[in-house]
Amino acid sequence: MEVGPRDGLQNESTIVDTASKIAFIENLVDAGVKRIEVTAFVNPRWIPPLADHHEVALQVKKRPGVSYAALVPNMRGYERVANTCITEISFVIAASESHNKKNLNATTEEAFSRYVEVAAAALRDKVPFRAYISCAFGCPFEGKVPEQTVCDLAVRLRDLGAYEVAFGDTIGVATPPQTRKLLDQISKYLELGQVALHMHDTRGLALTNIFVAQEMGVRSFDAAAGGLGGCPYAPGASGNVATEDLLNLLSGLGYACGINLDKVLDTSLHMERILGRTLPSKLLSMKRSAATKLQ
Ligand code: MG
Repeated sequence: MEVGPRDGLQNESTIVDTASKIAFIENLVDAGVKRIEVTAFVNPRWIPPLADHHEVALQVKKRPGVSYAALVPNMRGYERVANTCITEISFVIAASESHNKKNLNATTEEAFSRYVEVAAAALRDKVPFRAYISCAFGCPFEGKVPEQTVCDLAVRLRDLGAYEVAFGDTIGVATPPQTRKLLDQISKYLELGQVALHMHDTRGLALTNIFVAQEMGVRSFDAAAGGLGGCPYAPGASGNVATEDLLNLLSGLGYACGINLDKVLDTSLHMERILGRTLPSKLLSMKRSAATKLQ
């Protein structure tokens, strides 16, 4: 799942104009991306960089066979998704109470009950939905999060009808043994086909953790082109694992992702120029130096 246009841009300090966002999304789809989270239907007061969510979702030219996702926090957001390019929705809840209070202004139970309504509407309308569990590997306020808490929440979200649960390492603290241990526990409750990982590279271990997960049978991973975005709790630190670095790992392991790496790199390089900052992707730094030499 490409999350650059939503999770990436949401955490960038530069606000990207609507036309550039649409081009970004369409170029990634041109590169072969089949699942892309394009925006969040959240009050612009909370996420100013995605204030144009409705325009973006109205103007993206839909391609057949591509799933266009939007983060939807409540029924108000859900209702605005109608008649846009959006084909699936997602919502996020943390495995820790303090994070939900700070981030969603709700207790875990209050946040969950908002999603019960959204999930029922989505099921009625046959709109597939995906649930994110943030802080699945640790919380910036509470530290360690018990594995059983993560599993119990995942089961409740699956039972609501989520086709996939994405376990997020929001602050990038996961280690390979911890990834293995949590996935072992999760696999007692969920089919591996319902499990995705959303890893952050804050401490440089995102790909290592993803390697462990794919060995265990996980086949769905989130990534952001260029490694866009950051960590809201560690300004300046890396956020989402970079799409091109993930593709490089997966193709090295023999997986066919159907995505053209060069096209993704061109797209990331262009976004880097728009943002005016160097993005953290490793492969992009090679592309950048090659592009500079040619000039
Ligand atoms: Mg993220």
